[in-house]
Amino acid sequence: MVKSSRFASRIGLSPIAALDEKVRALTLEGREIVNFGVGQPDFPTPEAIGEAGIEAIRNGMTRYTSPMGSFEMREAVAEKLRTENRLEYAASEILISSGSKQALHCILAAVLSPGEEVILPTPAWASYPAIIRLLGGEPCFVETRLEDRFKLTPEKLKKSLSPRVTGLLINSPCNPTGAVYSPEELRALAAVIKDAGLWVVADEIYERIVFGSSRHTSLPAVEPELRDKTAIVSGVSKSFSMTGWRIGYAAGPSEWIRTASSIQSHQAGSACSISQEAARYALVSSGDDAANMRAAFERRRDITLELLCGVEGLELLRPEGTFYAFPRVSSFLGPRDPGVCLSTDEDLAGWLLDEAAVATVPGTAFAAPGHLRISYAVSDDLLTKGLKSLRRALVKLGPVLQQ
Ligand code: PLP
Repeated sequence: MVKSSRFASRIGLSPIAALDEKVRALTLEGREIVNFGVGQPDFPTPEAIGEAGIEAIRNGMTRYTSPMGSFEMREAVAEKLRTENRLEYAASEILISSGSKQALHCILAAVLSPGEEVILPTPAWASYPAIIRLLGGEPCFVETRLEDRFKLTPEKLKKSLSPRVTGLLINSPCNPTGAVYSPEELRALAAVIKDAGLWVVADEIYERIVFGSSRHTSLPAVEPELRDKTAIVSGVSKSFSMTGWRIGYAAGPSEWIRTASSIQSHQAGSACSISQEAARYALVSSGDDAANMRAAFERRRDITLELLCGVEGLELLRPEGTFYAFPRVSSFLGPRDPGVCLSTDEDLAGWLLDEAAVATVPGTAFAAPGHLRISYAVSDDLLTKGLKSLRRALVKLGPVLQQ
């Protein structure tokens, strides 16, 4: 048998993809599962965006683009960054990739050397440690807790520094917690980042899905001095319900982007030309569809809070953005009579799948055991049905009695 490479053997299948497989198998057996594991909007791609893709095919835009992405798409991203994020980037400082996942991979490959460590506040999206490890780096996990509103503080950041740490990966709005950093919080972190000389990758893929008075802020917009050491990563997957089109981007210092684009030129070559044109249209169009989707996610966030708050033992913070809730469920874990033992969040998620026919992602997948991630990117009806079932099951189970 051929042995996996040293770096490849350090990662496994994404736990979310593994959950999807399981739900698909149960559905094939005829079970009706409400899937709260999904990481994508349930809406179709807005029609006009789809039409822009079809038009691109009709117009013969079906050839390789520059490895950096089409000039028109990079210009559209630059304009978007200027008007929405208060950031000035030239087209030469922007890379278009096959999804923000590939942008993250190329950017990290451009800056991270084997053996170096990257600070990763947890809970964190499962692909971050995998990408870092594939590149021979090491994630330096820094735990944030519900009591900190799941946000990295300057004190915690300072404590986690070491000579091996070269960079920080930060995600706001955050998958899985829904936390959104305020300008003040970013400014306080920026002071430590500057002193320590760290580079930063800021994943802003959920930037348009923020609720109430929360606003998305980009780190270099509050601390321009960090512009030369920061790459912003975002894309159209979540904001415009375009996950299957696979378009994301990175904006950063030109040398960094040039290196990332060389790497990309030897991988995918370039992102899909047709998808780039559809994504360009999404960025320059009115954005009404994106605004309607955002409003639907806010309504569903409220439904989730209403149905889950008050369940004894479940602790839930109000998500400020994304389409995820991340309750702490540790009080349900441990031995109980008669003979049932749900020791881990994975056991509890498995039990909920059997007992309540709902699929949730265990917090362990985000390096945050004792939690569950619930995606509310499902219709209002399914959301209500699934949450009522989940609530019934948890109330019946009850927290483990402390001895
Ligand atoms: N970053 C985060 C935090 C995500 O949750 C995801 C997708 O789930 C991505 C990046 C990747 O998105 P895409 O590659 O579709 O742009």
